[in-house]
Amino acid sequence: MGKSWQEQFADAPDTLKSASRQRTLVPVLDFHIGGDQFITMAGPCSVESEAQLFPTAEAVAQSGARILRGGAFKPRSSPYAFQGLGLAGLKLLDQARRRTGLAVVTEVMSEDDVPLVAEYADILQIGSRNMENFSLLAAAGRSGRPVLLKRGMVATIADMLRSAQCVLEFGNPHVLLCERGIRTFETATRNTFDVAAIAVLKAVSHLPVIADPSHAAGVRSLVPTFARIGVAAGADGQIVEVHPAPATALSDGDQSLTFEEFDQMMTALEPWLALRQQPALAAAGVLA
Ligand code: PEP
Ligand code: MN
Repeated sequence: MGKSWQEQFADAPDTLKSASRQRTLVPVLDFHIGGDQFITMAGPCSVESEAQLFPTAEAVAQSGARILRGGAFKPRSSPYAFQGLGLAGLKLLDQARRRTGLAVVTEVMSEDDVPLVAEYADILQIGSRNMENFSLLAAAGRSGRPVLLKRGMVATIADMLRSAQCVLEFGNPHVLLCERGIRTFETATRNTFDVAAIAVLKAVSHLPVIADPSHAAGVRSLVPTFARIGVAAGADGQIVEVHPAPATALSDGDQSLTFEEFDQMMTALEPWLALRQQPALAAAGVLA
């Protein structure tokens, strides 16, 4: 007999399903994540300018996204790469929300920035590189804002649930678990999309699970397929990079979809989202 899920994830008890807690609905503006509706977050990797952000916000809203993504503080692997617009980027996101009615998710990289980012964002994104930044997790927990927790590149499912536990510990029940691909020996894709993690998380945790096909794929041609796989694995939503002119993007252009490609992807997902409503699939997540 192998270990039970409860034993395997014993360090993250509050993230696990129980008889009284089968799922958590995360409130965002006037809707929820983790309920029957599949929620799409979309937008550029980085907020670059008004001319880039506003048309993107309008296009993704038109195609069915409910949440605008866009980094104002960017965790770049090179000190010479574009680091983001900072506060000016947050202000552009806020204006885009007013224009479109979309909610806003944006990354916060340091605990010192949590109060500022929480003022502008509806959801705080904790990036892969910070999944185990425990003082940042604590600050995000205390902020009371929902937290999109991205899986670290070399983090196990247990590691991720432990980080979620740290946010819950500070009295914040609204954590979204994001699978964005992990490092393996495979280099054909940017990261290895661990869709099994989506299935496991849905089975063991009451927290909503978000798929990130963009950072997993690394190339735009694979993003719609990965998105479909995310839906089939049971994700409650997805986060997708979209840019008006991907070739000129200041970050992650190769994996960013054009408006048209995003619109086509959303249309192509519809039959798969309809399948998601079937009771047999809905019942699949059982803690055992
Ligand atoms: C991003 O969402 O643009 C990002 C930096 O993601 P990750 O932390 O998953 O690399
Ligand atoms: Mn990106």
